[in-house]
Amino acid sequence: MSDLEPVWSEYESPQYKSYTIYNFRTIPQIQNLSEEKQHEIEVVANVLPFKTNNYVVDQLIDWTNPLKDPMFILTFPQKRMLKTAHYKQMEQVMESGANRMEIQAVANNIRMQLNPHPAGQMSNIPQLKDGTRLYGLQHKYKETVLFFPSQGQTCHAYCTFCFRWPQFVGIDELKFASREIASLVQYLREHQEISDVLFTGGDPLIMKSTILSEYINALADADLPNLKTIRIGTKSLSYWPYRFLTDDDADQVLKLFESVTKKGIHLAFMGHFNHPVELSTKAVKSAIYRIRKTGAQIRTQSPILAHINDNAHVWAEMWQRQVSLGCIPYYMFVARDTGAQDFFGVPLVKAQRIFRDAYQKVSGLARTVRGPSMSATPGKIQVLGTVDIGKKRAMVLRFLQGRNPKWVQRPFLAKYDEKAIWIDDLKPFSGKKFFYTDELERILKKRSKAAKIAMGKKLNAKQAAKNHEIKFKERLEEQRIINKKP
Ligand code: SF4
Repeated sequence: MSDLEPVWSEYESPQYKSYTIYNFRTIPQIQNLSEEKQHEIEVVANVLPFKTNNYVVDQLIDWTNPLKDPMFILTFPQKRMLKTAHYKQMEQVMESGANRMEIQAVANNIRMQLNPHPAGQMSNIPQLKDGTRLYGLQHKYKETVLFFPSQGQTCHAYCTFCFRWPQFVGIDELKFASREIASLVQYLREHQEISDVLFTGGDPLIMKSTILSEYINALADADLPNLKTIRIGTKSLSYWPYRFLTDDDADQVLKLFESVTKKGIHLAFMGHFNHPVELSTKAVKSAIYRIRKTGAQIRTQSPILAHINDNAHVWAEMWQRQVSLGCIPYYMFVARDTGAQDFFGVPLVKAQRIFRDAYQKVSGLARTVRGPSMSATPGKIQVLGTVDIGKKRAMVLRFLQGRNPKWVQRPFLAKYDEKAIWIDDLKPFSGKKFFYTDELERILKKRSKAAKIAMGKKLNAKQAAKNHEIKFKERLEEQRIINKKP
């Protein structure tokens, strides 16, 4: 793949402009799509979050054939991202002349059926020794804690596959978010085993440098000997590289990064790239260069996604480009069991084949990457390949991360299943349970109090959506009766 011809000149300071369900029809290139396609976008966007921007639209999407273009599919909702029944349900309510609230109620009801919190995330909510529960944190693996800063719970554009979609749909009960950096510091003092804090979202780099620095400096200045690494999970390089080039506070963000690395804390920039095209503009290359100059290291990750990157050449090219730009390929993930998984999911056997074929095509420097890995309830589980044992075929798996650190690097076998797309689809090769099943149950039970409280919030949201739906049906019925009256 050659570099993209820049549409904007190098000397321009583009202004960010977002497009959502409310204004996407004003995008000039959209006019070439049929009314039917535009309608489909609108129906799906009422359920799954939709936002794109002028950089993605003008620089990354190939509009000669948008319906097959990976960047179009990555940011514009597609009909098949919803189950047929859900699509019809939403279409029907839209066509009934329902108001925003009523559409919202139906949308919430559908959302609740899309497994909003996969991998037992609700059981990862930690608490301080005084019993304060920290809803903007998740602590699953011993050495790493996740922090969701409130102001970072949006992104420059939304990925249609996003497993964090509940952060963006306006239901507070589904959202992880915190402004309490002091609680995070206290938690780190109470948990000396934690060495890494991951700022995540949404995209923490959507925040203005003044807000971001309040969070980061509070950590960096807290004199926490156990804190070795601050990670920032972000897709800003792909969706808005001008964050590090020409935005008002671009230089301040970079100075902040530099101040962290100068303090001897490792700053790991966890960059999400789903396709090599995202690495092809002058803007992204310059942004990568400027970030690396601060002493931060850029590691890269992406899920393997049908319709976007389920091809070994695409992955090999992406890793090669990353290495030549000085980034470190880190993870190939498996699409999670939430949201539009049916549309994006790649069977585990196929994903492993693609990983292996791509891995074989790149030099040792790109072989820092691990995968395909499922971030599942027990931990991060990698599919290593398949073996024949006697007359039976088995899938070989291992933990890269586990709720119990002792599970890590321990290989185990599952029955070969060419259709399985998630660990829950797999059966142990021998016996009735995987080696970790009983212990996992015990761990989850221990955390069940936290989970129950958190689940309570989730159920309230479910009930609220249900109530909206009941009211809406009653009103439709009333309307029908009124219409029938002579
Ligand atoms: S950038 Fe990350 S959090 Fe934001 S929509 Fe994409 S996957 Fe989700």
